[in-house]
Amino acid sequence: MREAWAFSYFIPIIMLILFLYGTRRNKTHLATSIRILSVMAIVAIAANMMMFLTQDRFLTMVANSIFHTTLTWILYAMLSYTREYTNFTKYNKVHKAIFMIILFLDSANIMLNCIFEHSYTCYEITYGPKSGIYYVVDGLPFHIVHMVISYGMIVLVTFLLIKKITQAPTIYKSKYIAVLGILGFDLVCNSGYLLLDLPVDPSVTLYAVTAACIYYCSFTLSPKRLANRTINQVMTNMSEAALLYDIDGNCVFINEAAEKLMANLEKEGIIRTRDEMYIKWRGWVEEKGDTANANEELQLFQSINLKNAVLHLKITYQKLQDEKGRFQGSYFTVYDRTEEAQNLIKERYNATHDRLTGLYNKAYFCDVVHDYLKANPEETYLMICSDIANFKLINDVFDTETGDKLLCRIANILRRRLTGYGIYGRLEGDRFAVVVPKQGFVLETYLEGIQEFAYVDAPLPYQVDTYIGIYEIQDVSIPVSMMCDRALMALHTVKGSQKKYAFYDEVLRDQMIREKELSADLDGAIRREDVRIFLQPQVDMDGVAVGAEALVRWTHPSKGVIIPGDFIPYLEKSGLIAKVDRHVWELACRTLKKWKDQGKEQYYISVNISPVDFYYLDIYETFIELVKKYEISPTSIRLEITESAIMQNFNQQVGLISRLRNAGFIVEMDDFGSAYSSLNMLKDLYVDILKLDMAFLGQAKDMDRAREILSSIVDLAKRLKIPVVCEGVETVEQVNFLKGIGCETFQGYYFGRPMEVSSFEENFMK
Ligand code: C2E
Ligand code: MG
Ligand code: MG
Repeated sequence: MREAWAFSYFIPIIMLILFLYGTRRNKTHLATSIRILSVMAIVAIAANMMMFLTQDRFLTMVANSIFHTTLTWILYAMLSYTREYTNFTKYNKVHKAIFMIILFLDSANIMLNCIFEHSYTCYEITYGPKSGIYYVVDGLPFHIVHMVISYGMIVLVTFLLIKKITQAPTIYKSKYIAVLGILGFDLVCNSGYLLLDLPVDPSVTLYAVTAACIYYCSFTLSPKRLANRTINQVMTNMSEAALLYDIDGNCVFINEAAEKLMANLEKEGIIRTRDEMYIKWRGWVEEKGDTANANEELQLFQSINLKNAVLHLKITYQKLQDEKGRFQGSYFTVYDRTEEAQNLIKERYNATHDRLTGLYNKAYFCDVVHDYLKANPEETYLMICSDIANFKLINDVFDTETGDKLLCRIANILRRRLTGYGIYGRLEGDRFAVVVPKQGFVLETYLEGIQEFAYVDAPLPYQVDTYIGIYEIQDVSIPVSMMCDRALMALHTVKGSQKKYAFYDEVLRDQMIREKELSADLDGAIRREDVRIFLQPQVDMDGVAVGAEALVRWTHPSKGVIIPGDFIPYLEKSGLIAKVDRHVWELACRTLKKWKDQGKEQYYISVNISPVDFYYLDIYETFIELVKKYEISPTSIRLEITESAIMQNFNQQVGLISRLRNAGFIVEMDDFGSAYSSLNMLKDLYVDILKLDMAFLGQAKDMDRAREILSSIVDLAKRLKIPVVCEGVETVEQVNFLKGIGCETFQGYYFGRPMEVSSFEENFMK
């Protein structure tokens, strides 16, 4: 019997040793407390085993002392563990010291009992003839102290656990209840042993189970439950739809987002049951070969057409496998990427389309044309670019809204006329580009189309002049942007002229290159004074010079003398004319200063102001500075502004002219009669002098009628007290006629061609 019991004691000892070995890697405080508990349990079990194996009274007393001392420390370890386990923080070093002293005194009391037997004693009993002698322990009054300490600790442990059970969230309650239950069971067993006077304490064998249970509750049960709950909660609430199907395709889990999605799809008539969706997805998975293992994901992008919208979904599939790799279910998450997809579509649209008109932007137009030409090599196409004359002016005179409206109208016309026939886009600003097949292209129809937007949507009438350049695409390998450049190059040759279109050809290209070279040479030419002024005399009725007009001349090192007509229009397009004019005015002022110093202040010089100068220079400030710099009178410099420059921005020009006149400058209206010649304009515009161009006479079919008109203009000017200068006078007849109608100042080849300044000074100045 003794041997059988002894053997049974080995079982918890081995279990505890295995437990210690198995948990050796868990270095947390909690695990360490449980391990200490286990070591002491081994000692206690061993002591208990000795108590009934021996038949010697003293040895029984010693074993008993060891057993009880160890029990005390087990309870202490249990208390530490519970403190840790329940996160009880109101325990400091002083508490610990007091506890230790009490426990050491108690341990000493128990151990000394072997000698003094003051605390408890034991007496012999005999269980049956074959069982031999057993000693049963009996407590003396002193023993009560030990019991109070031991049970005190049990009460404390119980209190801590109960407190925690009442306060903890439901999910955690079970872990404390489990520990309390185990402890209670141990206590019951222990009480049984005490009350029944058994030779063996059965609670001892439970120690191993207790340690394992406590460990399980601490590290496995509760965290697992927590993890499961959390995962469940996260899955249920996550914004992505999640669906779990078993191997037969039955839906076993569906979260809220998935519920909503499925309900929507059912409502829209896309699916009738949820399993139907699974069949669709599963089909796709199988199509992809379902090579995925548990760690791999398969992704599917699906767009579903609903009644009023398109649903963009990203479906992720994960195959669920058991530890042996057997298929055990399918897990799908569905992410509604509709907003993302729409943003992407919008972004792509914005990156490829012009915001204002919604047409292709330049980069995308070039891409589309490139692909299109590549795909249709057998056909010949035309690249047509258009540009509005003085579009900037429309924005200035009216407002940008009017300009925008015009651009949108152009875009709509292109859409209406060219959809399905050509490719079109907006290059920039007021420039549009179109690619159409050469065959069937009728220039007249195209020009007619342009007439559709030849007006602005504004109270004031304004003629919108649009120019087009056409390039026949012969070499499809050149970049499309270069094709546009060629069409624009052609366009530039006619911009500002009566002709509204031009075809690109090689001659044109050479001419453009030459012009480009000129503008590249310009800075050096100005610096070297290759760009300088010639003076053409202006004379009075007696043929005596009163002043001169400064006319620019460019002496090019290789091209010789270039006349204004060959470079000014080009420089006006690029705005470079402002540089030339600024230089010409400087030279004129310098000459006037020289004359002033020579006492010849009575002669004046007229200078030309290009309409483009107004955009690049502050005309008023520039001339104020010049007269200041050269200390000349503003009356000695006359400013020739063309009628067309005034018309382009009438109100602003009227203001500027009046400021210039107030500052003392004499303002002339150049080429009066060559452009709009609105006599009405003279009512609001105060200029000092009108310059009439004789070219006006030369072109007329009915000479008498032309002369009548000229004479009326001069008459009108006289009545308005505006002196007239007649230029382009070539013959004595013209002189006589002009004198006859009351002209007093003349300029023309008849009196003198434009000449070097020195030549003018020599031949015309006194
Ligand atoms: P414009 O201001 O009307 O200058 C008069 C033009 O008529 C000059 O041509 C002059 O040589 C020419 N001319 C003068 N008398 C006669 C004549 O009896 N018969 C004929 N057939 N022509 C005559 P040019 O120098 O070739 O200048 C042409 C135009 O270039 C000028 O017309 C003016 O608009 C512009 N221009 C000339 N110099 C400048 C300048 O420094 N700046 C700017 N912005 N434009 C200038
Ligand atoms: Mg002039
Ligand atoms: Mg003129």
